[in-house]
Amino acid sequence: STVYLNGEWLPLSEARISVLDRGFIFGDGVYEVIPVYRISERGVNVWRPFRIEHHLARLARSLAKIRINDPFNEVGWRALIEKAITLHAQQHADDANCLIYIQVTRGVAARAQVFPAHSTPTVMVMANSFTPPSALKREQGVAAVTALDERWLHCDIKSISLLGNVLMAQYAAERDALETIQLRNGELTEGSSSNIWVVKAGRLYAPPANHLILEGIRYRLFEELAAEAGITFEARPIPEAELRSADEILMSSASKEILPITRLDDRPVGAGRPGPVFAALYAGYQRAKEKQLAA
Ligand code: PMP
Repeated sequence: STVYLNGEWLPLSEARISVLDRGFIFGDGVYEVIPVYRISERGVNVWRPFRIEHHLARLARSLAKIRINDPFNEVGWRALIEKAITLHAQQHADDANCLIYIQVTRGVAARAQVFPAHSTPTVMVMANSFTPPSALKREQGVAAVTALDERWLHCDIKSISLLGNVLMAQYAAERDALETIQLRNGELTEGSSSNIWVVKAGRLYAPPANHLILEGIRYRLFEELAAEAGITFEARPIPEAELRSADEILMSSASKEILPITRLDDRPVGAGRPGPVFAALYAGYQRAKEKQLAA
């Protein structure tokens, strides 16, 4: 596949960065992941990003929070993404979907923690194949485990410094679970790469979108979908006991869309089956995709 790196489009195997890149040395950068779906329009296949304007707004916010000048405006980013999609579609015509990965670091400079006086951000964009979760996962649900959230206090920044998340993802994998649900001071925060939702008595709850979690692009969308489905949503702290006594637990992310978590730490969640709130939000998500992608 082809990668955009600092103004050039290169085969993946030829895309190289300096060992002094601050992304490599310090994890000093941010990223974004945008799902792209193939639809048929008047008999022609076209690939369209989903909620791209929200992803680009979050990228701009992440960059501003770590004080990297945004190397592109929205038009510039959209052009790069379109090109990445076109190249991916040419090279993988059979792919129904892809994920656009964008990474921006503070660039190359002599190794010192303080920001360099002059540096040019390193910009990388690539497309990777992706398949949304299988029908089996949606019908049976998936397993999650819990662990202490040991990350820093700026989880709202989509930072490439993902060591805490990486360790939590591995923790789940070693326990045959798909996700680790993290708890900080006895309250739910989020998964290693997803937002977590709790259902009790037909109501939908999520932790407030503050500095302790990444506000997923699906976070605001689910608020809208819940309202459309007549499901009451409330953002508020969720104590561990409420997580463990939930009727349903859901996870959401660009690549997982929405999945029901039916086992938590080897115990069934609620009835141990995907529930009605999952079904309503999943249907709403697919409708939202169809509506926006056709527009
Ligand atoms: N939290 C974390 C820590 C994540 O890595 C992700 C996935 N990017 C999310 C939440 C969900 O965000 P989104 O819906 O934008 O994929």
